[in-house]
This record gives sequence, C-alpha cells and structure tokens, in this order.
Amino acid sequence: MQNSKNVLRYVINNGAINQLPALLAERRCHGSVTFCIDHYFKASGGLGNLPLEAGDEIYWVDTGQEPTTEYLDALASQARKKPLPGTLVAIGGGSSLDTGKALANLLTNPGKSEEYQGWDLLCNPAIYKIGIPTLSGTGAEASRTCVLNNKAKNLKLGMNSDFTLFDQLVLDPTLTATVPRNQYFYTGMDTYIHCLESLNGSHRHAMADSFSRQAIALCREVFHSNDMQSLESREKLMVASYLGGCAIANSFVGLVHPLSAALSMVLGTRHCLANCLVMQTMEDFYPSETEEYLGFLAKQNINLPTAVCSKLNESDLRTCYQATIIHEKPLTNALGTKFRDVLTFNRFCEIFLRI
Ligand code: NAD
Ligand code: ZN
Repeated sequence: MQNSKNVLRYVINNGAINQLPALLAERRCHGSVTFCIDHYFKASGGLGNLPLEAGDEIYWVDTGQEPTTEYLDALASQARKKPLPGTLVAIGGGSSLDTGKALANLLTNPGKSEEYQGWDLLCNPAIYKIGIPTLSGTGAEASRTCVLNNKAKNLKLGMNSDFTLFDQLVLDPTLTATVPRNQYFYTGMDTYIHCLESLNGSHRHAMADSFSRQAIALCREVFHSNDMQSLESREKLMVASYLGGCAIANSFVGLVHPLSAALSMVLGTRHCLANCLVMQTMEDFYPSETEEYLGFLAKQNINLPTAVCSKLNESDLRTCYQATIIHEKPLTNALGTKFRDVLTFNRFCEIFLRI
C-alpha cells in the first residue's frame, strides 16, 4: 500500500526568509544548526544576515557540478566529526537542497551514500530539516528523494524515502530574482516535464494527477507570459515547482528522465538542460506536449546548445543506452513492461543523435 506523505509545514510569501530566525529559535533546544548553502550566495551575500549562533556550521555547496556520491561521502565524513546538529537548513537550487537532504540522512545513518541509493533503504529518521529554494522547478523542496550521481556505477539515483522529505519549507519568491535567464527556463521546465511524464504514464494516482495538472497550468501562465521572471511569474513557478514535487512523490517520471540521466552521466550535462535537450525529440512519444514545449522555447527566445551528441562513437552510445535502460520504473511507466522492445538500441540512437 502506498501511504503518501508530503512536507508537513511551509511558509510562503515575499520576504518569507525573514521568518527563518523565528523558526530556528523554536529548534535551538534540539541542538545547533548546520547550513548547506549554494556557494553562489557566499559571493553575492544575497541572503542577508543568517541567524548564526556559536556551534553552528555552514557548508557552502559547490554547485559547479551536480551532487555526487563521492561529494556527499566527503561532506558527511567532515560533518560526522562534529556534534550532531538539531536542525539542518538547506538553501539553494535542486543541487543544494538535495545535498542538504542527503547529508541529513547520512548524519543519522552510517556508511556511504550509495548504500541508500534506491527505495526505502534508510533505517533511521534524518536530522530535522528546513528547505529554502532559490531556484524553482526541480520540486526537490517537496519530493522524497535526493538525486546523486554515482560515477563508479554509472548511475544517477536518489535516496527515495519518507525520511528524505523536508520537515519545513520557506518559500520566498524574492530569492529567485537573481537566477540567470537560461537557468530559470531550464529548471522551470523540469516541473513541466515531470508532470507531463507523470500524466502520460500508466501508473495513475488521483492526487498526483491533480498536483500535476495544476502545476502544468501554472507553467503555461509563466512560459506563455511576456515576462517569465516577473515577481508574479516567479511566485507562480515556485508554487508549480512545489506541486510538481508533490506529484512526483506519488508517481513516476517517463521517457525523458532516463534519456536525460544518460546525458548527465556520460557527458556531464546538467539535469534540467539535459531534459530540455531530450524534450525537443519527443514528438513520437509526447506529441502535443513537445509542440507546446517548442512554443515555450520560441516565446522565451531560448536557444539550446546543438550537436551535443554528435561526437559520440558506438561505444559511447552503448554506455548511454545502458545508463538509460537501467531506469526500469519510469520506462515501464512510459512504455510498458516490454520497454526494451520499444526503446531498442537503434531507436535510442536515432533519438540521441538528434540531440
Ligand atoms: P542547481 O541547484 O544545480 O543550480 C544551478 C545554478 O543556479 C548554480 O550555478 C547555482 O549556483 C545557481 N543558482 C541557484 N539559485 C540561484 C539564485 N537565486 N541566483 C543566482 N544563481 C542561482 O540547479 P537546479 O536545476 O535547481 O537543480 C538540479 C539538481 O536537482 C540536479 O542535481 C537534479 O538531479 C536535482 N533534482 C532533484 C530532484 C528531487 O526531487 N530531489 C528532482 C529533479 C532534479
Ligand atoms: Zn527532473
């Protein structure tokens, strides 16, 4: 039986970050606070004065690459040398939120991060954690996973567990004002793609469907508008991202994500850009959504990189195919249990070589 859980508490308004001191004051009796913050904010100072006290730690998350198991293991071994904090605060985009979620799990569960890549493998509840997104779209603030790239295993997979969910969110649309335009589009599209994949899959879930439909409606308002980055649009996208994360916590993605995971594993393409690249080629699988997506690209005047896969040789393509086909759950959701007969190596190459 699927017994669904969503994030228990959230505050949402412009300037909500100013409520962080009060939220932390309630937590101080449980111990110190560990912050995982996107390193962008170290240089920009865009978060103002953080409510730091003696014994608190700040880890600046290097978002130059998306989180890996290696990175998390190194971070955990550093953090495990310190007294166990009472609260962890993660601030940033999907990479920083996932880093915070994974670290909170690793502080209360022994061993290496790869031991928990999969479904419901964590034994102990994580540290209480607060998520503060500064980039909207991945839904990492609402989902029950934290995605890690495992280079040794050629595998991109999260720690899927109720323990991975944030306990509290602070949703403040003013924090996304500084996101570069292309990044804003790529990450925003992750919500649209999660939800269209969920709605087109065979695994149906009444609540997830409703979350997805509303998230897509908000994405349409944002990406058809003349200013996708106005404060109003940023608030809508922040809500869409949260709803998309709730949807995906109860459903599965489809064909785009396994293909995109292969691009990330083999070429190092970042998740949301990789999704956008794959989505251009999906007209046989998601026809109306692909057309709508191409319309978003045109309306927002976004130019994607071209010929990304043109230099891949046969051996690279085989590696990419393996890194795609390993994602059985979403592929079954999209194409049925005989997905290997639909997504053959040749069909895969036809798609990939157009990217
Ligand atoms: P990101 O966190 O990797 O950040 C991308 C860039 O945006 C970085 O350079 C960062 O410094 C910058 N940035 C973030 N906020 C900013 C701000 N307010 N102003 C200026 N720059 C800012 O990007 P993302 O697309 O949000 O996250 C991608 C990651 O999320 C991937 O690792 C992906 O696997 C993961 N993901 C997780 C889930 C989940 O449910 N946990 C779902 C989808 C994707
Ligand atoms: Zn995604």
